[in-house]
Amino acid sequence: MTDKKIHVTQPFLPPIEEFLPYVQEIWNNRYLTNGGPLHQRLERELADYLGVEHLALFNNGTIALIAALQAFDLKGEVITTPFSFVATTNALIWHKNTPVFVDIDPVTANLDPAKIEAAITPRTSAILPVHCYGNPCDMEAIRDIADRHGLKVIYDAAHAFGVHNDEGSVLARGDLSTLSLHATKVFNTFEGGAIICRDAEMKQHIDELKNFGIVDELTVKVPGSNGKMSEIHAAMGLAQLNHIDACIARRGEIDAAYRTALADLPGLIALPKLNQTRSNYAYFPILVGDEYPLDRDGLYDQLREVNILTRRYFYPLLSDLPMYADLPSADPANLPIAGDMARRVLCLPIFPDMSDDDLARIIEAVQAPVKAGQPAMQPAQ
Ligand SMILES: *Cc1c(COP(=O)(O)O)cnc(C)c1O
Repeated sequence: MTDKKIHVTQPFLPPIEEFLPYVQEIWNNRYLTNGGPLHQRLERELADYLGVEHLALFNNGTIALIAALQAFDLKGEVITTPFSFVATTNALIWHKNTPVFVDIDPVTANLDPAKIEAAITPRTSAILPVHCYGNPCDMEAIRDIADRHGLKVIYDAAHAFGVHNDEGSVLARGDLSTLSLHATKVFNTFEGGAIICRDAEMKQHIDELKNFGIVDELTVKVPGSNGKMSEIHAAMGLAQLNHIDACIARRGEIDAAYRTALADLPGLIALPKLNQTRSNYAYFPILVGDEYPLDRDGLYDQLREVNILTRRYFYPLLSDLPMYADLPSADPANLPIAGDMARRVLCLPIFPDMSDDDLARIIEAVQAPVKAGQPAMQPAQ
């Protein structure tokens, strides 16, 4: 008999009886999309929850990213990280920007500010960093560089839902930040996304961008796309919002249990949580070092054999994908830290509905290769 599969994540579903009244509301008022009442409510309640002033909901995080680039009509080169989900760089291509990859910091896995300036050219228009795994970027240093060179900063904050540092929500930083509310993220609306911006004027502009660029019945000001979130997706968000604190708390327990278990296990290092006063525990990345009996892929395979499905986020590097590998900045010699991390990283399962038994099963499976190499325990007397 094989144990049941444990996936790296499992979407959180609120109890269906809490979802259905919202569905009834949609049937009653016959507003299906285009900024309906549930959409308006979710925008307000999410902004309150996150501690930001202006938030525009989207149908997904990728369209939100593309709209963010469009919001400033960014041209030319955009400096970004190779260590992210493929949507980050794909968005640049959709907006006809050229990605310029800069290496990451070995501790935070985020863009290394010390390496940004060397990549700036007269064609650079912006920096697109990612708060990887929800760990805040060095936003002071990035702001500083951007100001000195007149660049915009757009954060791909897809992993940073609810994350705060000592200045409050990390989503309030940069010129814009984008969120993904996809099923696999900490807070989901089945599919969804958002842009967080600084003022009402920009919010208005973004609302037009996500609605084809339409200003009024006779005026279309830019070739906008269709990025609108529907009422049924907003309903999911509202039902989910009542549970988000409990979800994050459970993730925190799992994170703590993993850290305790890994502390005395040679060769496995949990990435530290730095520069945050509130974490969301979106991922649990570990680095597989030389003292561990298996290499990263060996551990991935061994866990897979016992139905524990981890993910190699982020491998391959974006700069190694065929559509980006020919860029000069994609040269592996330019990105040694990212290359090393991509070879060693493994994300262990973490999601709010994980049982203590499943958690124990994962921890045992990760410890097993070390224990197999040690002398057998004496039987109890
Ligand atoms: C999930 C994710 C996205 C894309 O969001 P979607 O809502 O799936 O389109 C973008 N960037 C990063 C870093 C992500 O993890």
